[in-house]
This record gives sequence, structure tokens and C-alpha cells, in this order.
Amino acid sequence: MSTGLLAPGGAEPGDREHLTILYRGPLASCDYDCPYCPFAKRRDSPERLRADRAALERFTGWAATRAHEVSVLFTPWGEGLVRSWYRRAMVELSRMPHVRRVAIQTNLSSRTDWLAEADLDTLALWATYHPGQVAYERFLGRCRDLTGRGVRFSVGVVGLPGHLGHARRLRADLPPEVYLWVNAAEGHVYTDAEAADWTALDPLFPYSRFPHRSAGQACRTGDSVVSVDGDGTVRRCHFVPAVLGNIYDGTFRRRARPCPAALCDCHIGYVHLEPTGLYDVFAGGVLERIPHGHGR
Ligand code: SF4
Ligand code: SF4
Repeated sequence: MSTGLLAPGGAEPGDREHLTILYRGPLASCDYDCPYCPFAKRRDSPERLRADRAALERFTGWAATRAHEVSVLFTPWGEGLVRSWYRRAMVELSRMPHVRRVAIQTNLSSRTDWLAEADLDTLALWATYHPGQVAYERFLGRCRDLTGRGVRFSVGVVGLPGHLGHARRLRADLPPEVYLWVNAAEGHVYTDAEAADWTALDPLFPYSRFPHRSAGQACRTGDSVVSVDGDGTVRRCHFVPAVLGNIYDGTFRRRARPCPAALCDCHIGYVHLEPTGLYDVFAGGVLERIPHGHGR
């Protein structure tokens, strides 16, 4: 079923030209220290940072020369917006007429003044609140700053039991049009009562609660959505390692093919899994995780 809506960040059926790219370069460091994350407080060597910057600039240059529409979600291992080159890439991409959407997953730790240079009809943020890493008022202040600037963003938390009170407080303090998502914590089994608590905050939590049985199912990845690394290597998604070609040498060809994995348990994957119907739920906000009808 299609809503018939044009969906920035998500191709409509028949929209053959638009390509959505999940980009993840060499960067693998973060200024936060989340206990549930392998990248907590990791530092990148100067060489790695230089390589990350060069790779991102190459990618932005490639995107600039596409003859078709493009949407990009940056999904760094770690935090990108503390690096000037991610902020610049976001601004540059947002101002390209053929870029439908550019978004990034971020902990919102860095300053926001750079957003004044971006085209806010194209740029969006996927923000995550990490209680324990940032004072509540500071994080809420960042969200209010984004709202004041007219930035499109979603906010979410990992659904750990210790986060429930923080998430409730955040939901109560955020304007209703700002969508708050909840990710099921990895390896955590939710009782129905626990799931109900989280669903009261995020009505779409049931999509995250259990992994999706994706084997053999139609998934847009590999066709209208791809994962690209710093070398330009194309994979269908971040979770299937098979290489499909490279964007820089022209060896990638789009092709629809069913999911080869048994399960898909991450939103940035299963949102593209056709039987979930999530392109309709998130029409207009697939990449930044904003359901249709939310956001500015
Ligand atoms: S903010 Fe994100 S990348 Fe950084 S340590 Fe926490 S979960 Fe990991
Ligand atoms: S369903 Fe998930 S794991 Fe399977 S191809 Fe799609 S994104 Fe990848």
C-alpha cells in the first residue's frame, strides 16, 4: 500500500531514480561513555580522523555530481557532529537541489549554531538521549534550541529499565509534535507490562520489541537503499556483509532481492523491510525516524 505521498528519505514505489544511502566512514570514536556501547570514549588516531575526513569529502563530492535524487543518513560508529567535516557535509548536502534529505544519528553533544547555514527543509537530526552522559536540563535545552531554530528532529532512548523515568520526563517536556522513539535494548526480553510502559511513550515500540523475521522477505536495500563505507564499498545494508560493488568505480548496480538474513532487529534496517509497512508510517521521515504527521 502506498500513501501516494512524496517521501523525503524514502523512495515511493516506482520512484526508480532516488537513491537512499546509509553512510558510515572510518570514524569510530565518541565523546560519551555509554555502558551499552562499544565506541564509548574511544579515541581515533589523527591518521584515522584524516582518513575519515577525506572519505567524507570524497563522498560529498560524489553526491554533488549525481544526476538523480539522493537522500543520506550518516550512521557513524560514534559521534560525527563533534567533527567539523560532518557539520560541513550536512550543510553542503542540505543545499544541493537534488538532495531530498540529509540526516545524522547524533547524541546532540555539540553546538548547534552551524545549523543556521543549512537548508532546514532538507536537513534533519536523529538524536539520542543517553541518561548518565548528559544532564537532563542540558539535553532538554538542546532540544528546545533545535525547536527554536526550526530543525526537524526525532529524539529517542534505549529502553533500559533505568531509563524509563528519564524517558517519561522527556516525553512530558517535549512538544507533542516532537516524536520520541524507544529502541528495545539489545538482549533484553520485555514482559508485556514492561512493553506497555514503553509503548505508552512510543506507540511504535512494538516494532522494536522483537526482531523481525526477515529471511526471504522483500527489502528495499540493495535496490533503492544502500549502505556505503568510506572506501565507497556498497553493501545492501549495515547487517549483510556481502559486497555489491563500489560507488566510485561504477560497479554497483541496483537490484531488488530478498533479505538473506534470518532476523532484522535494528530500525535502520527493518524500516526498509517491505512487509513492515513502515514507509507509510514514516512517510516523509523515514531516515530521521519521524512518523508521518510529526515534526515541523
Ligand atoms: S553516544 Fe552513542 S556512540 Fe557515543 S558512547 Fe553513547 S551509544 Fe556509543
Ligand atoms: S531486512 Fe534488514 S538485514 Fe535484511 S536486507 Fe533488509 S535491512 Fe538488511
